[in-house]
Amino acid sequence: MKSAASMKSMLDKISEVLFPDLCLACSEVPKSYDAHFCTDCLGMLPFTDHFGVKQNAVTMHLAGRVNIDHGAALLTFRKEGIVQKMLHQLKYKGRYEIGEILGKMSATRYQDSPYFSRPDVILPVPIHATKQRIRGYNQSEIFGTSVGQVLNVSCEPEILVKIKKTESQTGKSRTQRVENVAEGFWISTPERLVNQHVLLVDDVITTGATLEACCQYIYDGGAAKVSILCIAAAEN
Ligand SMILES: [Zn+2]
Repeated sequence: MKSAASMKSMLDKISEVLFPDLCLACSEVPKSYDAHFCTDCLGMLPFTDHFGVKQNAVTMHLAGRVNIDHGAALLTFRKEGIVQKMLHQLKYKGRYEIGEILGKMSATRYQDSPYFSRPDVILPVPIHATKQRIRGYNQSEIFGTSVGQVLNVSCEPEILVKIKKTESQTGKSRTQRVENVAEGFWISTPERLVNQHVLLVDDVITTGATLEACCQYIYDGGAAKVSILCIAAAEN
């Protein structure tokens, strides 16, 4: 008679065959089980050289706008491309494991990069609370948490928050009100940022306007330096 343990391992094997993890990019059944992508998609993933190049698409994009220690994106985003499909699955189809896996892949490259140093805290670019309630999660937070697990740094989504532009303005100074209306971001606990190296993470960098605004808030909160890590960077 088979032991319970071997029975369980047999059931695991059956369930692997019946319900295999789908490829993170094309959602097809993968041809191999050793990766999170089918071999076709893995070969097509447009990885960037950002981790090993000081002047790359991300740092050049933000140059002269905001001072960052280093910046990188794991992948290049092209319209209708494989990365766009993946990010769509991550944002709108509940496939948060895409953010987790890409977070791990990015963190390994971060650790090996001569330009990145270990951050003190990770802040995900926030989304509106209402949006997050509907979606169930913030994709940048999923990514940041996964990066943090590898780097052994905590990801703290409650520090940099996005507030509704119509939110009550009472009790805020005029300057604060103006900033509030302009950007809709808020640093809830600036004392947590004083002299810290912040790693700001987002899913995709396009114009860089959001990251630029977030950086300004983070520096205003007292941070010493900011680095940027994104899943993807739009091709210019
Ligand atoms: Zn695939």
